[in-house]
Amino acid sequence: MDVRIANESAMTDGPVFDRLALIGFGLIGSSIARAARAQRAVRSIAATARSAATRARVVELGLADQVAETNAAAVAGADLVIVCSPVGQSGAVAQEIGPHLEPGAILSDVGSVKASVLHDMAPHVPQRVHLIPAHPVAGTEHSGPDAGFAELFVNRWCILTPPPDADDSAVERLAAFWRALGANVETMSAEHHDLVLAVTSHLPHLIAYTIVGTANELGEVTESEVLKFSAGGFRDFTRLAASDPTMWRDVFLANKEAVLEMLGTFSEDLSKLTRAIRRGDGDALFRHFARTRAIRRGIVEIGQDSAAPDFGRVPASLPLAPLPRPYAADSE
Ligand code: NAP
Repeated sequence: MDVRIANESAMTDGPVFDRLALIGFGLIGSSIARAARAQRAVRSIAATARSAATRARVVELGLADQVAETNAAAVAGADLVIVCSPVGQSGAVAQEIGPHLEPGAILSDVGSVKASVLHDMAPHVPQRVHLIPAHPVAGTEHSGPDAGFAELFVNRWCILTPPPDADDSAVERLAAFWRALGANVETMSAEHHDLVLAVTSHLPHLIAYTIVGTANELGEVTESEVLKFSAGGFRDFTRLAASDPTMWRDVFLANKEAVLEMLGTFSEDLSKLTRAIRRGDGDALFRHFARTRAIRRGIVEIGQDSAAPDFGRVPASLPLAPLPRPYAADSE
């Protein structure tokens, strides 16, 4: 059963955890560090990343109290460990850090897929460590330690997918951490998460990757038109299709079953619309578009997006050149 945790108790009086270890320090890891510092949700932060170049950048940014050379070294003394590397790395990372985790610590992650993460990590987690996977449903198309920002999770959902035998107080403590970062928290099973996210996030990305690729093939014939007229819808797909290739390769491999199921439903719906266009069935098209418009309005109403036209993009200002007659004031 899905359990919603109220957000009113979001703000805590003191740090929720003593020492936070972040394994991976890209968009999500560095945003957690920034937000946890800003909200004083932890007393200290240890961080690490795969490459020496990223670790050096973390030192330069000054976002962690300690930058460790290895994943194993990063988790020493941490009562909260969050794995922020791509989901395909989850098993290997858990294997590296497992023997070094503190008894009583919470081990979590931020992966966009949950059942495979639970499956890959669980065998390496010692008995006295609480494994509670999580997914902050917040992000951008940018990657790396410089891409993060402290407000990323504000008013966004963070979904916790604790295994059925998880310790309730550990789950609540992790929920309190995410609420301190500004997120709303909900818990559900990993399988349910994967099905929901397949339709709300994974499928839209797959469609964006497809359509941008298709337009690019056309672009070889008529390149300037594809770019010139991109504001007619295509531009919004290009933002999604610019998302990190490693992350999304891992997501589709890890959530294969749910994505294929949703893709089947999507293909059927696309066939219905195709048929309506072919038959000139304007009523069917209108009914469908009216329904989807209502869904968009619902998303705006619950505060998950802006009602501003064009997603609130500020139009470029007009050039400051004098207005031509007859519009200019006749001051001469
Ligand atoms: P990112 O910006 O590419 O950062 C990934 C980080 O993981 C990098 O610091 C990378 O180090 C490190 N890393 C990779 N393999 C590692 C390993 N074996 N051990 C330690 N560190 C390792 O990615 P991101 O966007 O933050 O995404 C991270 C996770 O968040 C993914 O699981 C993704 O599914 C999830 N997520 C992403 C979004 C989003 O919109 N981007 C939203 C919600 C959840 P190097 O820089 O040295 O390679």
